[in-house]
Amino acid sequence: MSDAKDIKGNRLDPWLDNYAARAHGLRASETRSLFAVAARPEVVSLAGGMPNLKDLPLDALADATATMLRKDGGRALQYGNGQGLPALREKIPEIMALEGIDADPEDVIITTGSQQAVDIITELFIDPGDVILAEAPTYVGSLSIFATYQAEVQQVTIDADGVIPEALEERIVQLEREGRRIKFFYCLPNFHNPAGVTLSEERRPQVIDICRRHHILIVEDNPYGLLGFEGQTYTALKTLAPNDVVYLGSFSKIFAPGYRVGWAVAPAAVREKMKLASEAAILCPSSMSQYSIAMYLDGFDWRQQITDFRAMYRGRRDAMISALEEFMPECTWNVPDGGFYVWVGLPDGLDAKDMLPRAVTNLVAYVSGTAFYAGGRSGRDHMRLSFCYPEPVEIREGVRRLSEVISRDLEL
Ligand code: PMP
Repeated sequence: MSDAKDIKGNRLDPWLDNYAARAHGLRASETRSLFAVAARPEVVSLAGGMPNLKDLPLDALADATATMLRKDGGRALQYGNGQGLPALREKIPEIMALEGIDADPEDVIITTGSQQAVDIITELFIDPGDVILAEAPTYVGSLSIFATYQAEVQQVTIDADGVIPEALEERIVQLEREGRRIKFFYCLPNFHNPAGVTLSEERRPQVIDICRRHHILIVEDNPYGLLGFEGQTYTALKTLAPNDVVYLGSFSKIFAPGYRVGWAVAPAAVREKMKLASEAAILCPSSMSQYSIAMYLDGFDWRQQITDFRAMYRGRRDAMISALEEFMPECTWNVPDGGFYVWVGLPDGLDAKDMLPRAVTNLVAYVSGTAFYAGGRSGRDHMRLSFCYPEPVEIREGVRRLSEVISRDLEL
């Protein structure tokens, strides 16, 4: 927080000394502060990870919502149960079954997006200074939560096959030797945000084994798991170790983020604590949203909708990869086989964070790699490009504009 003053020398925020220590960890995320600029119609935004909703059947959803309200409005507009609407919790195992996960509705807790699930878990497990293990890079939104609770985030190297088990264990051993308290490993096994990679099947049991031996809980954040472009899915960490994993799912990418509905499946004792923490914070998740999603799962072909989303995102991924091949041969990138993101490595000496204002002036936006490292301590040599939202022609134009900026920076 800044101690800014007006021209008369008065503090702009007279409450600055009154904030709790944890409030000083709050920062505008690099993605959020870009949203306003990137939303200008002339800018091609390869920055935000907004799902593309253009193919949702809005008229049919409107009609079904009206019918639902006439029938169930008394309950949909009322407070609900802290753990979530039973009719929705009953349906969630059907979604998880598509990834081979066997879940009991009793172990499901509905949250306000998986973002709230990460928040509750961090609140429950972290005292200031406790260690959270995460991948390097990792999801920027979770880093913000971890900072709020004053965790120390230790990030472990990943490669094309996800987190490197040897690096994970080495870091754990080193931290234990220093007497640090490691509370959980926050892991994005499928179609990683921002790196686009997937943890290999071979490494999954190795990761479980390491965490088990060191008594470290795993938080498996999986909002993209059903968006494999060939319809492929992977063995969930939850399946391999039901009692050692808190699994997080979300409707944001397989339906729509505006409802703000996600879920967690946790070992019973943890789930109970999560329920209490959620009730303390929000009383209950939105009844209206939960009734709407239950209605959608009952009355619409949601499996087909997921298949359609996959095909749409695959086309956008293809557009981005061919544009990168055409315009940015001096960069490196991975070819993701699901999800929303490509992680682009810049030529030596270029700085993604410094370059961003020049990119926005050239009407293209991305997220600097620094956003995905705690304290922005690394990542200047990378940028995250999202292909989820723009049309394929816009993606091509965005990458072309970006290549102009990179070429100019290379000449500096
Ligand atoms: N985890 C990851 C990895 C994400 O990419 C996102 C959204 N971009 C979230 C969690 C939060 O999703 P939501 O709260 O909408 O479920």
